[in-house]
Amino acid sequence: MEPTKGKGRAIVIGGSLGGLFAANLLLARGWDVKVYERASDDLATRGAGIGTHEELFAVMRELGITIDQTIGVAVNRRMCLALDGSLVYELTVPQVMSAWARVYRPLKAMLPDRCYRPGTALKAFTEHADRVVVELSDGSRDECDLLIGADGIRSTLRSIWQPTAQPVYVGYIAWRGVMQESAMPPALHAQLMPNYAFGLPEGEMMLAYPVPGKGDDVRPGHRGYNFVWYRPTDEHSQLPDLCSDATGRCHGQSIAPPLIRPEVIRSIKKTAHEVLAPQIAEAFELTEQPFFQAIYDLESTTIAKGRVALLGDAAFVARPHIGAGVSKAALDALDLVNQLDAAPGDVAGALATYDVRRRNFGSKVVQRSRWVGGYVQWHGKPKHLHPDNMMPSAPENVLREIGAPLAKIKELHEMM
Ligand SMILES: Cc1cc2nc3c(=O)[nH]c(=O)nc-3n(C[C@H](O)[C@H](O)[C@H](O)COP(=O)(O)OP(=O)(O)OC[C@H]3O[C@@H](n4cnc5c(N)ncnc54)[C@H](O)[C@@H]3O)c2cc1C
Repeated sequence: MEPTKGKGRAIVIGGSLGGLFAANLLLARGWDVKVYERASDDLATRGAGIGTHEELFAVMRELGITIDQTIGVAVNRRMCLALDGSLVYELTVPQVMSAWARVYRPLKAMLPDRCYRPGTALKAFTEHADRVVVELSDGSRDECDLLIGADGIRSTLRSIWQPTAQPVYVGYIAWRGVMQESAMPPALHAQLMPNYAFGLPEGEMMLAYPVPGKGDDVRPGHRGYNFVWYRPTDEHSQLPDLCSDATGRCHGQSIAPPLIRPEVIRSIKKTAHEVLAPQIAEAFELTEQPFFQAIYDLESTTIAKGRVALLGDAAFVARPHIGAGVSKAALDALDLVNQLDAAPGDVAGALATYDVRRRNFGSKVVQRSRWVGGYVQWHGKPKHLHPDNMMPSAPENVLREIGAPLAKIKELHEMM
């Protein structure tokens, strides 16, 4: 391996949010960094609205990213609407709703081009006492002192290293989509746009909230309204049909949004009118390209050892109910660099500490989101199947727990 200046050479697999947080933090602390990202297109076109947490902004600030009013749309009022459109419950919860791309763009912009190689995937790696050698999809090899897997829920690195840790489908999907504020009729706009709206039909959960619009625009009139609608969906009798394109080809447990069959979109929009408040259904109807994602739990038994570490969704995936996937990826990356700084020249020692700390946190996040998601998973199922500890299903619990500030979740706050 070529001698490197500074603290050593790190390779990061995956150039999405987790990978970019890690790469930028390592660079700032004196590491030489290379990111290999499988996708060759601009990732900023991906993603939808996200809830944020103060802890996410703290890591962004540490990198010198300005957090001001352009970071998202502030919303204070949560309201649950009944099927007839009447107000069931309301709660004041200040939160900033942002967009995946709004977090991604400044992270990508600050990483020097020489550190980022798109269109290149990890294929294999070999650990040696003094280095790790990676094999890449273009046939080349590279070497490093530290290898980081930030390659998401289907992580190649994790599947080579820890093949038994696999995502487990939890029995429901999330329909998602964003409609443009400019397309909202005025009466609907007045009711929905300032609010975080909930719809709670039997065993389902619809969340709808304002987010930055195209180009991360937060100006009134240019924002978006984002939907996340959790619906029980049988893995064998329903999901394969949803994931089949117009030619009949099933794409597994996910499908690219443009390939979702028009009749599937028509059907979900029709269902919206049958089970949701008319205001929410009307807005969902105006969503140009609804898409869905299957929801999984993923727990790893080891996330770091020797010279190899996992972070973000590659390490643990919690259901999205606490809205902390991006924040967890940022906090994983921060803890990793902090442990490396605390043990200069001892990568294995630093990673051993990181493994204990962040595995503990990841497990707690998964448990918490499983508890909240029980609302969708267990509703209508025989009582004897229910876990002992269930979140009470009243609307006030749902409105309080979804995307709650991490500082208010005792078992997580204790570990931050
Ligand atoms: C319905 C839903 C709603 C959500 N809402 C929120 C929310 O409100 N707030 C929030 O914080 N989070 C939310 N999340 C979670 C959030 O999107 C993820 O937790 C977060 O994006 C994880 O980032 P990551 O970088 O770890 O992984 P990913 O974003 O999955 O990135 C992995 C990257 O690795 C690349 N890659 C994969 N394999 C290889 C390989 N072999 N070689 C090279 N590159 C590779 C991929 O191309 C990809 O770019 C939500 C998720 C879902 C499903």
